[in-house]
Amino acid sequence: MSETLAPVKPGRLIINGEAVDAASGATFTTTNPATEEVITTVAEAGAEDVDRAVKAARAALDGPWAKMKPIDRSRVLWKLGDLVLQNADEIARLETLDNGKPIFESRLVDIDMVARCFHYFSGWATKISGDTTNLNPSVFTYTLREPVGVVGAIIPWNFPMIMVGWKAAPALAAGNTIVLKPAELTPLTAIRIGELALEAGLPAGVLNVLPGKGRVAGEAIVKHPGVDKISFTGSTEVGQHLMRTAADTLKKITLELGGKSPNIVFADADLDAALKGATAGIFYGKGEVCAAGSRLLVERSIYDDFVTRLAERAKKMAPSDPLDPKTRLGSLVSKQQMEKVLGYVETGVQEGAQLVAGGKAQPVNGKGAFVQATVLAGVDNRMKVAQEEIFGPVLAVIPFDGVDDAVAKANDVFYGLASGVWTRDVKKAHTVARRLAAGTVWVNMYNFYDPAMPFGGVKGSGFGRDLGEACLHEYTQVKSVWLNLE
Ligand code: NAP
Ligand code: MG
Repeated sequence: MSETLAPVKPGRLIINGEAVDAASGATFTTTNPATEEVITTVAEAGAEDVDRAVKAARAALDGPWAKMKPIDRSRVLWKLGDLVLQNADEIARLETLDNGKPIFESRLVDIDMVARCFHYFSGWATKISGDTTNLNPSVFTYTLREPVGVVGAIIPWNFPMIMVGWKAAPALAAGNTIVLKPAELTPLTAIRIGELALEAGLPAGVLNVLPGKGRVAGEAIVKHPGVDKISFTGSTEVGQHLMRTAADTLKKITLELGGKSPNIVFADADLDAALKGATAGIFYGKGEVCAAGSRLLVERSIYDDFVTRLAERAKKMAPSDPLDPKTRLGSLVSKQQMEKVLGYVETGVQEGAQLVAGGKAQPVNGKGAFVQATVLAGVDNRMKVAQEEIFGPVLAVIPFDGVDDAVAKANDVFYGLASGVWTRDVKKAHTVARRLAAGTVWVNMYNFYDPAMPFGGVKGSGFGRDLGEACLHEYTQVKSVWLNLE
């Protein structure tokens, strides 16, 4: 399949408006997890490259970017959104090759989200303002909302291009400059968007892209005294480590971490819709989705029937070639991730859960990190498979009795990223939404996102928000100005 397509050019660092090699000359390869073939080589950033990028970002921050009128920043960001759409086929293909996700998702969902991020936040560039206060006739007091400075963005492999949009669009709209490190497993689309940003007219140094290893380039970004803020999306473990490291230089930090999100189906729900929502909630994105509805809580009176229908649906979702537009279940990001996920299935069975669908690796054309859509039934909420983030297409189905039990089980977990509620009872929907400890609640829908709606976690899922007006507070700081009128 991939032989017939154009080869992918080697990836380079983007520093100060130029595509460059690493100072050390180091490179790494990036692999297509579906075919196990090397896609291309990529320059690997080290501490010296991070230092150059941070210096370029600082110079741009105080120079051309600060001097550009907000309306002109807005136009550049809008144009970048347009360029993403104009290059949609190419970018979507890169994403699918690098990550293994179905082209249906990259081309029709992810591209659209990235473009909407740049278009939506371009409008905010002209709308960030302070207040005048009325405290005393003898002083004039007002606040300025200023950019925080150089933002270090460190992003994961599950939504590589979407994460560029989520981080870069608001940070740039608010007047910051960026040093961005994509995940080592999926560097290609971030590099491509970095190139398009230059084409859109973003001044040199405003958006620097540094593919490389977390423990080298990532670590150097977090330690660098010239970086003012870290915006991180990734695992809880790494997030905790970054928070400790960032303390040394007193950086602001926002952390979007893992999840184990409950999707709650009450007996009074539209069960056909709930069934679709439950399967899309876990199998979309191969379950490598931070907000995946990985714990399905089902009211006991409908539990057995629901599990039967769920298992039937899951068995029909065979993994297949990610580049085929009909494919809905792609390859996991790596063999290592596949082993981790299969290990959890085994643990679940050992803990006493019943495997009612999937559970195995299923190579496509003899290759790849494909895992079947898997359903574990009869799960107790205290089992490992109900408490730990699996990050794969594995659903744990847990029975409950009534509203209080549903809420107690939903909240009895370290994480608090997202949640779902399926019911026809309006009062129940809103009261349960208030009681869930989660950054997002979807009612009679699941896995919906929009640049205008804030996204982020509570508890072990981190703090701070991406998207929406809320995230602009993460990328600006307030200055109070006093002027004596006497
Ligand atoms: P990860 O291992 O934490 O990696 C995330 C990023 O951090 C990667 O770019 C990684 O570099 C880098 N990194 C690793 N160690 C570092 C260090 N010591 N210093 C600085 N940077 C470092 O997470 P992942 O496995 O890529 O992604 C999966 C996780 O992300 C899941 O837990 C998922 O729930 C979470 N996630 C959360 C959200 C959300 O919005 N809350 C969204 C998506 C994903 P390398 O590429 O070299 O590892
Ligand atoms: Mg890859």
